[in-house]
Amino acid sequence: MNESISIANPDSAGLNLQQKLALATGSIGILILLVTIAGVHLNSNIFLPLSIAMLFAGAAWYAHASYGKQPEGIKNNGVYHAALTNKGAIAWAIGIVLTGFYVLLYWFPASLGLANESSSNTGIIALFDPLSQFFTGEPADQWFVYGTLYTVAILAMGYKFLLKYRHNRYQTIRTLSVMFFQLFTAYLIPQILEGMHDDKAYFAKDIKNIWPLNHYFFESWHLDNMLSGGSLGMFYLVFGIFLFAVGTPIFSYFYGKRWYCSWVCGCGGLAETAGDPFRHNSTKTLRSWKIERWMVHGVLLLITIVTIVVLYGYFTNSDRFLGLSIYEYFTRPYGFVIGAAFSGVAGVGFYPILGNRVWCRFGCPLAAYIGLFQRFKSRFRITTNGDQCISCGNCSTYCEMGIDVKAYAQRGQNIVRSSCVGCGICSAVCPRGVLKLENGPEEGRFNHNPELVGKLHEPKAFGISDQK
Ligand code: SF4
Ligand code: SF4
Repeated sequence: MNESISIANPDSAGLNLQQKLALATGSIGILILLVTIAGVHLNSNIFLPLSIAMLFAGAAWYAHASYGKQPEGIKNNGVYHAALTNKGAIAWAIGIVLTGFYVLLYWFPASLGLANESSSNTGIIALFDPLSQFFTGEPADQWFVYGTLYTVAILAMGYKFLLKYRHNRYQTIRTLSVMFFQLFTAYLIPQILEGMHDDKAYFAKDIKNIWPLNHYFFESWHLDNMLSGGSLGMFYLVFGIFLFAVGTPIFSYFYGKRWYCSWVCGCGGLAETAGDPFRHNSTKTLRSWKIERWMVHGVLLLITIVTIVVLYGYFTNSDRFLGLSIYEYFTRPYGFVIGAAFSGVAGVGFYPILGNRVWCRFGCPLAAYIGLFQRFKSRFRITTNGDQCISCGNCSTYCEMGIDVKAYAQRGQNIVRSSCVGCGICSAVCPRGVLKLENGPEEGRFNHNPELVGKLHEPKAFGISDQK
């Protein structure tokens, strides 16, 4: 039985030969990494470049085989029939493997081959030693391995994204933007600086990683390290505070949340590129929206309290607050539950099951912070030309933040939701040009004059009752 529901080309549900060969190529790159995790020693000078080259070649080949000769338009053919993208067996297998890898990375790095005091690296960490030596003169650790693989994933899958959405200028530019920020500010510049300043104390590596996403920014050890890190450390301290207190409100006023979440952020970068095949798996229920609001703002409140306590300890030169150890009762639990388990393990490991923006939507305190500006003091909105909407539902289906865009479009109502990351995919996949991302004047942002079905139904029926 042919499972495709396409009338025009029912055979398009399967993979063609080129796609299969491309997948095999990329799989060899992954296999090399898995073999080293299993404890097999490989020559790093040969197999690390080989693995990375196979990953890039496989992704590029697959992208060309999938989208290269296609006419204009975004193709999501078969996403509800493939086991990878419809929460089938492959999705679960990848989810479990990814989650397991994150667990080892965060809590059992020795099992990946991280050296102890009396030994040198083995396993996958040893595979990355020559590259780490090249940048910093030091052997690799688990974070170098993670950062390198993270960057490779964004660049390789970013190339695939660029081909898939190549007829859309907004998608092209913002994807090049996240690839640029990941490669330079998150990866290359920190590595080069570390190599040049090995005599200086450690300071925040990725300069665009703003508090409260960077939850340790105000912790004593980090403040001390920046303060003793010379002019560069001082620059990181001042710039980090400026970005949080001044830059973020100003940028968010003019551009909404998208300037960070869809153009700059590393978490957003991975979600938009490697996570793109899973964006339709985000839940759209009203219940999930309620949970999302409580959770994401709860995490923001939590990190605010933790940071106040941390600063209290720093300025009073005490490691206790109300008799409680600041490390044991505040910073460590937050770092474990939110910083590691939620943002890393669940946030990325569960892409294939829960969609690509689980962390951004339910847990990121910076997204919550920027979202407050987007909701209440911003020029950004998505306008909807409701008369043109044919209720196809593409926009809601592919909204990674679970926003029921169609409900707004049908009513001709502007979308000013705090959770919208301004990815623009709803607009890109709309066949009628109904949706437009705009940075207009504040006046008229909140329009309460539903044009079509709104006249027949109370807003609550569409789950948008808090639109004031
Ligand atoms: S509403 Fe549109 S722009 Fe906003 S997150 Fe959803 S798909 Fe992206
Ligand atoms: S994609 Fe466009 S036409 Fe389809 S439901 Fe959304 S706004 Fe309406």
